[in-house]
Amino acid sequence: MTNATLIDGKAKAAEISAAITESSAQLLSEHGVIPGLAVVIVGGDPASQIYVRNKKRMAEACGFHSVQHTLAEDVSQEQLLSVIDDLNNDAAINGILVQLPIPDHLDEQTVTQAISPQKDVDGFHFQNIGKLTSGNMDTAFVPCTPAGCMLMIEDQLGKDLSGLNAVVVGRSNIVGKPMASLLLKANATVTVCHSRTKNLAELCHTADILVAAVGRAKMVKGDWIKPGAVVIDVGINRVQLEIDGEMKSKLAGDVDFDEAVLVAGAITPVPGGVGPMTIAMLMANTLRSAKMAAGRKS
Ligand code: NAP
Repeated sequence: MTNATLIDGKAKAAEISAAITESSAQLLSEHGVIPGLAVVIVGGDPASQIYVRNKKRMAEACGFHSVQHTLAEDVSQEQLLSVIDDLNNDAAINGILVQLPIPDHLDEQTVTQAISPQKDVDGFHFQNIGKLTSGNMDTAFVPCTPAGCMLMIEDQLGKDLSGLNAVVVGRSNIVGKPMASLLLKANATVTVCHSRTKNLAELCHTADILVAAVGRAKMVKGDWIKPGAVVIDVGINRVQLEIDGEMKSKLAGDVDFDEAVLVAGAITPVPGGVGPMTIAMLMANTLRSAKMAAGRKS
């Protein structure tokens, strides 16, 4: 048994961000355009606040115009839709995202579908989902997490995954389903598993590429993994661990890393794998939106 290659999402994200910063500066000098990203957050969920702060910080580091709308927990749907409408009509804004989850009294689908498809940098609008699932990627915004996973997979295996089996565990609209579409587009043979799947371990063991997006700490065990497989761990789970006699809160993925690293060919760590890539892809989508808007104007 040998240790797997560690896929360093943090380093890759830093490379992508540097290229985005350069390209953003060029867009400004050549077209007078500064990419604009607006983040809307409802309520004070501490995890969401951290995510939003990181996105704002990264947008500013890339030279973007960055705005944040923080709305009260009890904001009405009409008020939220009105903020989105204003942003849809604001020429300085190229990307809009509403940080999920939103409180239960708001209808998530109505809210995500209210964002203009041309500014939908999260890739959740039905138009963008339709383009992705039909393989029409030229003008599609792809959801950031699977887009980031795909770049890391390409680094390991190349762009053409012909003949390779991919197994995606999880079928959410945000990760599992778009991940499956991207793998299919790259010619992998794709199996999507979920909570009703039988023989999950056996199916995972067929995977040359295994993507875990479940939300259950360390669920995927070492003996589920085909030797040499590329393992992408999307899960972010908070677990309590006893360290030096003290209980401490730590992040863990959906894959049992200590076991998997002995079997896989390459694996993403948690943290430092998929997470940083997600934010980098959000910046990439925003830059792309700004470039498309500049192209429409010229
Ligand atoms: P989600 O919407 O809760 O979906 C979870 C999926 O896992 C569902 O399809 C569910 O099946 C499936 N599942 C649950 N228990 C299972 C089991 N025992 N066996 C097989 N499948 C099971 O979650 P998500 O939004 O996709 O996120 C998944 C994880 O990724 C979470 O830990 C989340 O925090 C993390 N995440 C990370 C990033 C990042 O940037 N790194 C971004 C997004 C999400 P059913 O459909 O049958 O219920």
